[in-house]
Amino acid sequence: MEQKIYGNYVGGAWDLEGERKELTCPADGSSVAAVVHASADKCAEAVEAAEGAFPGWSSTSLSQRRRVLSRLASMIEERSEEFSLLESMCTGKVIRQSALMDIPLAVECIRYYAGLNVRMSGRRNHPEYPGTRGIVQHAPMGVVAAIAPWNVPFLMAVWKTVPALLAGNTVVLKPSQHTPLTALELAREAERAGLPPGVLNVVTGTGDTAGRALSGDRRVNMLSFTGSTSTGKKVQEQASGTIKKVTMELGGKSPNIVFADANLDRAVRGVMFGIFLNSGQLCESGSRLLVEESIGEAFIERLVMAAERMKAGNPMEMDTDISAITTRDQLHKIGGMVDEGASKGAEIYYRKDIAGSVPEGGFYYPPTILTGVTRDMSVAREEIFGPVLTCTEFSGEEEAVGIANDTSYGLAAGVWTSDMGRAMRVAGRVQAGTVWVNDYHMLSSAAPRGGFKESGIGRELGIEGLMEFTQTRHIFVGDSAGSLDDVAYGLVLPDREHGKPL
Ligand code: NAD
Repeated sequence: MEQKIYGNYVGGAWDLEGERKELTCPADGSSVAAVVHASADKCAEAVEAAEGAFPGWSSTSLSQRRRVLSRLASMIEERSEEFSLLESMCTGKVIRQSALMDIPLAVECIRYYAGLNVRMSGRRNHPEYPGTRGIVQHAPMGVVAAIAPWNVPFLMAVWKTVPALLAGNTVVLKPSQHTPLTALELAREAERAGLPPGVLNVVTGTGDTAGRALSGDRRVNMLSFTGSTSTGKKVQEQASGTIKKVTMELGGKSPNIVFADANLDRAVRGVMFGIFLNSGQLCESGSRLLVEESIGEAFIERLVMAAERMKAGNPMEMDTDISAITTRDQLHKIGGMVDEGASKGAEIYYRKDIAGSVPEGGFYYPPTILTGVTRDMSVAREEIFGPVLTCTEFSGEEEAVGIANDTSYGLAAGVWTSDMGRAMRVAGRVQAGTVWVNDYHMLSSAAPRGGFKESGIGRELGIEGLMEFTQTRHIFVGDSAGSLDDVAYGLVLPDREHGKPL
């Protein structure tokens, strides 16, 4: 079969000029497609196209933009099987997750924004100046560059482009070089849905070339970045030469706190879902289990029993439960961190035997549970981004909150208890942008998400996420009767003849 080639999408045209790189499927090492990596010049062309399209797109009405988005949602839904397949082939995530979660959630997100009749301007009174009027407008930023990671590529592409477009911005999206296909297909569908040329551009390629070019471009007015905290720090430096708004969704090391009074059947399932969904390659993965000491050992045993029931196999088959690891580098990183933890005294309490069950040529790391983990170990402090759960016991609420907050991250947390008073107390003290009570990983397009501390700046989703893509303009309409002129203008031009204020 002839290999499919994906080019860059710039100014409404598919561009095949540039270096071609082969994409392989992490599930079995097979070839997926060839992708053209964008040079720095190609990225500059994309920014130019977005800049040229901005005056037209930003002057369309909100309802026109909502109509395009509404069509886009339906078109993607019609092709959802194809999108699911592409997403799993690039990431190695189980097809069940792509088909039942990632793609439907993305469609739902487009529908949410398409249905949002939000007021982009409002009136203000100025208490100091009676007779005047204020109008506050939420104006688009201009050209937005969006840089995304490899773990949930389609959701990321949608979360970044859809609210940005609704707010009237034009966009240059750079998906991860490892997983660009669904973002490119998004552009194809957006064109069919009626998005004018240049409004959405997609360039693929590495962070060092394409990412660097976009973050340093002075014509880019806003940068919406999702990725690791270490890359986020670099990106901020790169962007600092040109003053632009930067929002960041970064890494996490999220605690999942289980109190002895929780519904333990549900907590076991929630903790498993929290860490093993997508083989732990989610920024919000509940990678640190904090369990009340009175139930510690028994609870961990129940997790082991549940992990034994997970099915390893080919992720492209509907009944497989364990996703591949998306890149070889990530696989090595996970192995290295677990080995280091073990050398510092953590016990590999459980490691699932998956050998022989998973396809040859793919990247897999077995679901693993580490016990005896102390707060100073790097496995307890740094993001592993793999199917590895660290377990630490605590005694009482105070200690649970102390351990939960003893991290430089602050993305998410889970609290499991049947005492709602305690749940709300703990939720209100955990430094995290999202806290789930008796649940985990549930996302709503209507609810803002993002990080405290080194997990990020700004929010995605909900009205808050839409507003990030705007800048506020205040229009001051003066008092036509000029009743305040003497006081205000008199500071410069006092009416000395009539003895008015000096
Ligand atoms: P990464 O930081 O390596 O890369 C993210 C993106 O940045 C990629 O598109 C990459 O090409 C680009 N990039 C790399 N170097 C760059 C540079 N110097 N300038 C500009 N762009 C550059 O992250 P990853 O390995 O792709 O994804 C995993 C990380 O993403 C994890 O840390 C995870 O927690 C985080 N993540 C966070 C969220 C969130 O919402 N907070 C969501 C998903 C993933």
